[in-house]
Amino acid sequence: MPDVRCERVFAPAPDFEAELRAQELPLYSLETGRVLRDFDILAFSVGYELTLTNLLNILEMGGVSLQNRERSDDQPLVIAGGPAVTNPLPLSPFVDCFFMGEADGWLEGIFAGLAAIKRRGGRRSDLLDLLRCEPAIWFAGKEEVVKRHLCTRFGQYSAGRKKFAELSSFPVPNIRTVQDHGVVEIMRGCAQGCRFCHASFFYRPFRLKEPALVVQEVDELIYNCGYREITLSSLSSGDYPDIAALVEALNHRYRDLKVSFALPSLRIDSIALQLLSGLSEVRKSGLTFAVETPRHEWQRGVNKQASPDRTIAILKEAKMRGWKKAKFYFMVGLPVSEGQDETLPIVEFLKEVRAETGMSFNVNVAAFIPKPHTPYQWSAQLGEEQALDKIMFIKRSLSGRGFKVNYHSPFLSLLEGMVSRGDERAGELVLKAFKAGARLDAWEEHIKWDIWRGVLKEAAWDVEHETCRKRSLQEKLPWESIKMGAAGTFLERELEKSQEYELTPACVSECTAPCGACTPQVRIKDRINDSGKEILYRKLRSLNDGEYRHTFKEQEHRPVRKIRFSFIKAGKAVFLSHLNVMLIFERTFLRAGYLVQFTQGYNPKPRLEFAHPLSLGIESREEIAGVELLNYDSTGEFIKKMNRNLPEGLKILALKEIKPPLPGRKKHSLMSLYRGSDYFIAPAIDSHTDRRPVLEELCRSLERIAVIDGEAAVSGPAAADGLAVDGPAAADGLAVDGPAAADGLAVTIAGDYLGTSFSLRQTPGG
Ligand code: SF4
Repeated sequence: MPDVRCERVFAPAPDFEAELRAQELPLYSLETGRVLRDFDILAFSVGYELTLTNLLNILEMGGVSLQNRERSDDQPLVIAGGPAVTNPLPLSPFVDCFFMGEADGWLEGIFAGLAAIKRRGGRRSDLLDLLRCEPAIWFAGKEEVVKRHLCTRFGQYSAGRKKFAELSSFPVPNIRTVQDHGVVEIMRGCAQGCRFCHASFFYRPFRLKEPALVVQEVDELIYNCGYREITLSSLSSGDYPDIAALVEALNHRYRDLKVSFALPSLRIDSIALQLLSGLSEVRKSGLTFAVETPRHEWQRGVNKQASPDRTIAILKEAKMRGWKKAKFYFMVGLPVSEGQDETLPIVEFLKEVRAETGMSFNVNVAAFIPKPHTPYQWSAQLGEEQALDKIMFIKRSLSGRGFKVNYHSPFLSLLEGMVSRGDERAGELVLKAFKAGARLDAWEEHIKWDIWRGVLKEAAWDVEHETCRKRSLQEKLPWESIKMGAAGTFLERELEKSQEYELTPACVSECTAPCGACTPQVRIKDRINDSGKEILYRKLRSLNDGEYRHTFKEQEHRPVRKIRFSFIKAGKAVFLSHLNVMLIFERTFLRAGYLVQFTQGYNPKPRLEFAHPLSLGIESREEIAGVELLNYDSTGEFIKKMNRNLPEGLKILALKEIKPPLPGRKKHSLMSLYRGSDYFIAPAIDSHTDRRPVLEELCRSLERIAVIDGEAAVSGPAAADGLAVDGPAAADGLAVDGPAAADGLAVTIAGDYLGTSFSLRQTPGG
């Protein structure tokens, strides 16, 4: 976009934060290292309530005032959006304005307007004025009703929509990140309307993406980004029409590339035999059942059905197909079981399923948290102690073989509830906890329990009571001026139906009980073009379409070619671990159009090997690796295509094709042929610095080398362990040279300017 540049920053991990603070360095962007306070806008996507101290930390470390009223005109504008700020009051002292809804289709227009203001010399206050006129923007004191923005073109082709391939700066991580899959969003919203689910109401109405567009995006993630694990994502992917046929067609298309597909959030009703087969074709993903509550009538109350019989039938099928484990999610404290104990029914449900299937289960239990804009926004939440008692009962009752029970800390649920339905007072507590050192509260290994308990104890109001109490229908709620889609009257009616255990049918295009989310501009899209779909699936199965970049049919009978190649690892790439380098090469072969031979078995791996893993932080002039390819072309093409697709710091130098071993001759792995590496250590010292202490330190770190004396300094007899170090002084003051000792280890130290290069030869055992 002209005049607009977008960069990323993440909340720093504790060690990085400590280092930045110790060095008095501000937090900076990933792409160009620019300090945060120098940007025009900082926009936060807040997906979870327990990340608020992260947001404050990013502001403070980026040199931006925490309180919005203290921000001067030379500071960035701070915007927040995402599911966790649909009640913006807790964050309102810190964020300048909040965006409600889906940003796709909105950002381009508003950024063009903001860029125009900047071109005219506009200031921060001018940018803020423009944003405040937007119907989907909320800010403290806004009198008009805020209407969320919805993407009107989700799932459709459009002339203006760019392919990933055309987005030259589309980032693909070079290190394995959390959820490191290629993700294609196949649907937005959910037709089912579970009454506790914030996402279901946030993303209404339900919209499908056309299968041809799904395939195009999968293609781009595989061929341009190099992913082999693709998630077909949505709130309930099993509800995609003919999902089993789509998965089967995709599996067929990418079979030779060993691409696997995962479907998160499958409802029990939507899991079918054919779908399980499709998902297990390449590698098995986990089976997860979010049952939530065990009794039939309670399930009707929350509008989500998952009977034990159906669950047992699916698990029996899954077991026959090789699954041994499954995961279950339950909640305690849902408003449907008010006054009744749900813990024993949960235990009975799980024991029955285990007795029938003989499988092992990981069980996750959490306290229900009422969320804004849902039918349960008025409901009570369990207090910490009450929730813990219930969870512990379940854990005790399921102890023993076949069950592993994990739970979400009821104290964290209390904090989440405090932010979820709280007001500015909740924000004050977040600030207080942050100032006292709270960070990364969503991660149990990082949350500072004592700080948070202290803050809640010292609060001038009863935090637990205020968070957990039931709201009356007449009470003014903090988020009332924000309209997320479903009308308030619809939510009230849904609450009544929940109390009567009455189901609301799934959304369909001929809606007879509208909630208010569908509009003439954005309607539910629950059907795909059937004739188009059939043609597409047939094409994908045939592999002869010729339309796509790679059809590998002609490769099927080609002989495997074994290639050895060498490469440089330098610059920023020294911070890539060996496992990440392997991942990068794996992805680069795909991006470069090479078909790698895979191992056999349940979890096929590419036949790619490295002579010797290089430690993190060490540069290499020449590493050796090998790969087996089915469509190797030539030395020149290989080097050209690979180097075009490798990230900065990695570069192929040379390669050699290896003849297959003669029949009856032993195969040698690359690692078994490895004889040794030369290491050069060059300390960064200038010509004015006294080098002796540095050299001594280096020698000490090599442990077995003794500094004998003065200038020339290093010389040594064979050590008891077989190491020999010996050498005259080099011209610049230091040299150590030694023959290989009995164990094959030799050390050479030679100097030059900055000088002092240590060369350490290492063998596989040394
Ligand atoms: S208006 Fe009807 S179809 Fe549209 S989201 Fe609401 S309930 Fe579903």
